[in-house]
Amino acid sequence: MKSVAGSKWGANRDLLLGYYRAAILGKINYGCSVYGSASSTQLRKLDPIQNAALRIALGAFCSSPVLSLQAESGVPPLHVTRSKLVCRRYQAIQHSSRHHPLPVLFEEAGVILSHPAWPVRSHQPLLIRALWAYRSLSLPPPLRQPLPSVPPTPPWRDLSSLVSFCLSESFDKSQDGHLAPALYRELSDTVYAGYLEVFTDGSHTTTPAASAAAIYLVDLSLCQTWRLAALHDSVTLELFALFKALAFIKAHLQPQKVVIYRLSGSIAPYCVPQGTWIPSHVGIRGNEIVDRAARLALTSAAVETLPLQEATCSRLLTVASGKAWDSELAAELPSSTLGAYRTDSSCHPWARSTARALDVALNRLRIGHVGLASHLHRLRLVPDPYCQWCRDQEETIAHFLLHCPRFHSMRTELRDRLSVLGVRDFTLPVLLGGVGPNSPLRYPVIRLVCVFLRKSRQLHRI
Ligand SMILES: [Zn+2]
Repeated sequence: MKSVAGSKWGANRDLLLGYYRAAILGKINYGCSVYGSASSTQLRKLDPIQNAALRIALGAFCSSPVLSLQAESGVPPLHVTRSKLVCRRYQAIQHSSRHHPLPVLFEEAGVILSHPAWPVRSHQPLLIRALWAYRSLSLPPPLRQPLPSVPPTPPWRDLSSLVSFCLSESFDKSQDGHLAPALYRELSDTVYAGYLEVFTDGSHTTTPAASAAAIYLVDLSLCQTWRLAALHDSVTLELFALFKALAFIKAHLQPQKVVIYRLSGSIAPYCVPQGTWIPSHVGIRGNEIVDRAARLALTSAAVETLPLQEATCSRLLTVASGKAWDSELAAELPSSTLGAYRTDSSCHPWARSTARALDVALNRLRIGHVGLASHLHRLRLVPDPYCQWCRDQEETIAHFLLHCPRFHSMRTELRDRLSVLGVRDFTLPVLLGGVGPNSPLRYPVIRLVCVFLRKSRQLHRI
């Protein structure tokens, strides 16, 4: 990485981080579900490799805090990555075929999933490490769901003819809101005349977190609802409703023509026997009823048991892992210089420059470890911490950007141009943080600061 970028030249940060993730991080993490049982002392020996790569990518000083490097680059520490990967491995094993030997060993180990215990000072097996990782992330460990070794539907069988999208294709949301009901009535009276009509819906709320599914058979005036665990996603809810509708038809009705209408398009890749997609539930009575039933089921006391799907587990794991890392940063970053500009790992694209020298300068100024005299003096690289133009003032980042008379004219120009934008505060959090994460002015503010840095002719020192 050092051969393709320096602090003033070479590849940009994204390219360097992409190379690190692709060529180095993959090798470091390869087999971590096995070697992760090593002692923390041994595992910590890998950390300097990542730290060095992040320093090169950001152009940061060797003295820069590791936590700041990780937050600024968006690369989590290795222990967080390992924890996530061991959970992924456990999840893959739980969803493997029924002939996989590890699930059998897991069951024979006699470990209680909710309270995993293992002798102290002994190497923890994958099962224990995965369960502890899930526990630390406040996630339920995935249950055993063996996949069939042969898919029930042959891959060469075309199921697209069983699903009709004619209603959704004819429907344009910009058109009159009565069009969808009219199209539905037309289909119901012509193409699907005489069919048993079934409506399905999945519903989800976040406050309070709850999920539910419902089916409504129009001719029988029959509605059935199920409340499910809140962690299920909308695709699972809709597929569950479809499955229940098909199961009911198979169990209770004589063979007849059935059309299943479903409410949204989130399960478009899946096919159902003679189903059709309805883009709007307003004005279609069956859809309104099933939608209302699903919402009522959100407060039901009985919760249907349904294991989480593999894709849902992966999504929850990614979100929980990110939150765990962000909580680490929120606790530690405020005590560092970077804490004035960020307290989590979110991307700050405005605090970047396409020019390598400016990008490195911005990184160093935000992290607080720069080539100015005050910092170099702390490292005992220069005899005194004072500014070379005003000998009685320490050359800190604040002195350089806000006070040093040497750059007065450039600073006045910067202040005037910021005033034109409506930015009156002339402080470090504004100049290097870009006013705030949600302000539309964050990009122009950082661009103006880059102009100041370039005109100051001090980039080689920063
Ligand atoms: Zn000065």
